[in-house]
Amino acid sequence: MNLSKTLPISIEFFPPKTPEGVEKLRLVRQKLYALQPEFCSVTFGAGGSTQEGTFAAVRDILAEGMNAASHLSCIGATRVTVREHLARLKEMGVRRLVALRGDLPSGYGTGGEFHYASDLVAYIRSETGDDFHIEVAAYPEVHPQAKSPGGDLQAFATKVAAGANSAITQYFYNADAYFRFVEDADALGVSVPIVPGIMPIASSTQLMRFSDACGAEIPRWIRLRLQSFGDDSASIHAFGLDVVTSLCEQLRAGGAPGLHFYSMNQSAAILEICARLNHQDRPEEGAAVELS
Ligand code: FAD
Repeated sequence: MNLSKTLPISIEFFPPKTPEGVEKLRLVRQKLYALQPEFCSVTFGAGGSTQEGTFAAVRDILAEGMNAASHLSCIGATRVTVREHLARLKEMGVRRLVALRGDLPSGYGTGGEFHYASDLVAYIRSETGDDFHIEVAAYPEVHPQAKSPGGDLQAFATKVAAGANSAITQYFYNADAYFRFVEDADALGVSVPIVPGIMPIASSTQLMRFSDACGAEIPRWIRLRLQSFGDDSASIHAFGLDVVTSLCEQLRAGGAPGLHFYSMNQSAAILEICARLNHQDRPEEGAAVELS
């Protein structure tokens, strides 16, 4: 049985910067399509440097017959540029957006006509009605710039009230933080699906660097184990697969509405994690396991 039939999955890519990267990503996507993702999304760099790459990757995914979601960030943007992006995405056939505030690269200042993702969501709805399914970001371990956990949760509820249909979380390795966040959001009257974001563990230093920047916590036991492997990438991969598969199992068992994989433009770890989940998903003893 295919995992995607019981638990929808989605997969996130970033736009490659070189022609070689574009070709490599094409091959990666072909492998991942075997998982029948509900949609594939492409990140969008605030400040403009990679935005054409986002549109190109989204166009490629659509041409490959898959549902594509474009991320769209608003920090530093004007209403006019956002309107142009929306018109372009609509014309390309995009029907799903991940609407974000974004983070400006240092040196860009803070200009622009939008302050928060909730402003962007409200603007998209006012400009395009129900043309797009809008996803927003959620932070079970609290956004790093939030003044308080309560304020961050309220900001999340405000984004949803502005017109979001569903949410994808920042990655985390502590399932309790996710379940608590979903419960707290529910208590505030937020009833949209909140899909956990899953970051496979590929490299210890890359993960530490990313997590520091985005405020995701690497539990002490995971950090120490990863550090103890040094340059032994085979052990890091094996440990990472165990940890992330077990996290996905907990999330599935606890009722998560889907899994959103941060692919980092790689396929191997996601394929292996889904194959393991697929295997555990067997409905009956002796039933054939369909891995594609
Ligand atoms: P917001 O929801 O606007 O929140 C930002 C901060 O402001 C939070 O601390 C919040 O608590 C606070 N806040 C919000 N509203 C208010 C208010 N009314 N009053 C006071 N405080 C408020 N970044 C990119 O550049 N490109 C991408 O493609 C991208 N994709 C992402 C996908 C996912 C699934 C996730 C989880 C993150 C992604 N990011 C991306 C990162 C994201 O842009 C950053 O985390 C950014 O710092 C916050 O964006 P946001 O949309 O969550 O902002």
